Amino acid sequence: MLKKILYSIWLFLFCLVIFVSVQSANFNAFIDVIENRTFDLRQNIMVNNKIKSVNNNIVIVAIDDASYEYILDKYGEWPLSRDVYAKLIDYIEAQKPRSIAFDLMFVKSMKSAASADEALVNSFKKYDNIFTAMNLDNQSKDLRIPPVLPDKISINVINNAEHVNLDGHSYTNCRAILQGILDATSNIGMINVSRAEDGILRRMPLFVKYQDKYYPQLGLKVGLQYLKDMENLDIKDFVIDKNSNLILGKRKIYVDNSGNAILNWYGPTASYEHIPIYRLIKIVNGELKNEGYDFKDKIVYFGTTASSLFDIKTVPVSRIYPGVEVQATYVNNLIDNNFIRKADKRFTVAAGVLLAVLTGIIVMKVASAFVASLASLSVYLIYVLSAYYAMKFGNIWIELVYPLILAIVAFISALVVKYFIKSRDFEQQYRLATTDGLTELYNHRYFQEQMKRQIENSKRYETEFSMIILDIDFFKKFNDTFGHQAGDAVLRQVAQTLKRNVRATDIVCRYGGEEMSIILPNTGKDVAHSTAEKICERVSDKKFKLANDRETSVTISLGVATFPYDGQTASEIIDAADKRLYNAKNNGRNQVGK
Ligand code: GH3
Ligand code: MG
Ligand code: MG
Repeated sequence: MLKKILYSIWLFLFCLVIFVSVQSANFNAFIDVIENRTFDLRQNIMVNNKIKSVNNNIVIVAIDDASYEYILDKYGEWPLSRDVYAKLIDYIEAQKPRSIAFDLMFVKSMKSAASADEALVNSFKKYDNIFTAMNLDNQSKDLRIPPVLPDKISINVINNAEHVNLDGHSYTNCRAILQGILDATSNIGMINVSRAEDGILRRMPLFVKYQDKYYPQLGLKVGLQYLKDMENLDIKDFVIDKNSNLILGKRKIYVDNSGNAILNWYGPTASYEHIPIYRLIKIVNGELKNEGYDFKDKIVYFGTTASSLFDIKTVPVSRIYPGVEVQATYVNNLIDNNFIRKADKRFTVAAGVLLAVLTGIIVMKVASAFVASLASLSVYLIYVLSAYYAMKFGNIWIELVYPLILAIVAFISALVVKYFIKSRDFEQQYRLATTDGLTELYNHRYFQEQMKRQIENSKRYETEFSMIILDIDFFKKFNDTFGHQAGDAVLRQVAQTLKRNVRATDIVCRYGGEEMSIILPNTGKDVAHSTAEKICERVSDKKFKLANDRETSVTISLGVATFPYDGQTASEIIDAADKRLYNAKNNGRNQVGK
């Protein structure tokens, strides 16, 4: 029991050491890459099983490949003349949409005619539900003087979260949009994204910092306007609480340590209703009848989906995903409260420790390593499935990689510990089975086994070996005189003396009672005989210590036999040695028998 507890403590410390060493930056980055892939996998399974459907209140007016061709054909150039957008806005506004958002930037451009710009600016003046984008960057001042942005488009952020650092999304420059639009509206949001190391877009910054002010994501502005209309939600300050949640009324958006929201995806692509812009243009120009496009109460997102227009991102569920759909997903996550929330780091640690402990218990309790592996695997599978369901039903991202690594380390170390214990037990059992408790010499059974073995070996390799059998003289009398305790002490000391006076390869055994035997492998008659003589002398010279500092001496009689001269089997050899021992006794004891 104590042994088990000690090993458990050892196991725990071992895991702790692994876990702490695992906290190095490089390893963390490596783990993050894999963890992100497990996130992608979960998202893909969800998307393939159509777990969540998109919000039908979002439609996309797409500048797709067909539209791009149409525009080049009809107007001779891209971008599209801005008065066309103005006309489209009027057309859509007539149907009372919730909002119209452009995932497009209307920057100052020499190509754009002043009258076209003015038409668009007038649309922004006319309707208060039109949104457009700007983009922040770190371009040098030589290229472009950093513009001053109007106060009205910035927001106030109060960050109470210890771990959230918004400074990572700080920019020194900005591609601001047309001054006329800046003057006309405050419905301007940035469209910066956050890519992971592997280039995949999983997260979007909620705000970026520029000239000491915060500017929100376009999708955040669009979504909040929707929530203002639908739920009367009016946000003045953007407060991130100490648990890393951006508080938006009843909604809490999880903010990662770099100030990003984690997107939850609805489909590989084209999951929103896509209306090619050329069809709208044709309708507005009277070339086509209204095909039943319904914009009432819709959030209408304008953006490019044509691959030649370079607004293509790689996201967990698709390698080619139009930026405007990322925006739509963002708004959709916001209004349907679907953003991903990452489980607390403490949860991850607890899950890892729990898995490790369970693994340890399984490996220790289950006798078969195969069954233990299966049982552990099942536990891991349950964990993985739970993590999947947590994301599916709760939008929660439970980390898989750290806990599983911990569990596997625990599995391996538990196996190692188990086999260590087993082999120690085996060694102990073996020792118990082969040695004599009093003298710590090999016991009679071991002696017999070794005799047989020596005979086999010597036969096969045609070598010789010898054995010595010896008996303490007048030991009965010794016991009677000094008592059995003293007798035992002498037995132990004789055993020691024997061990000290033979080779390491010689096998010293307690034959029985006060008789001992020594097997001398690869040893001929003469050497065996002189060894016996030497032992006889050493024993008779030795002062044996008894209790109360008394000393005494004993003598022994010995018999030697050698294979193959004295016999072909173990018992013949033993008999031969025994006879010589008997001769020694008869001849006056304290000698090697002839
Ligand atoms: P000899 O061999 O010289 O003829 O005389 P002996 O007195 O030694 O004769 P024998 O072999 O008949 O006696 C063996 C004695 O050894 C009997 C017993 O008292 C003692 N003996 C055997 N095993 C042990 C043991 O484990 N401890 C002790 N103290 N005495 C033992
Ligand atoms: Mg005897
Ligand atoms: Mg004796």
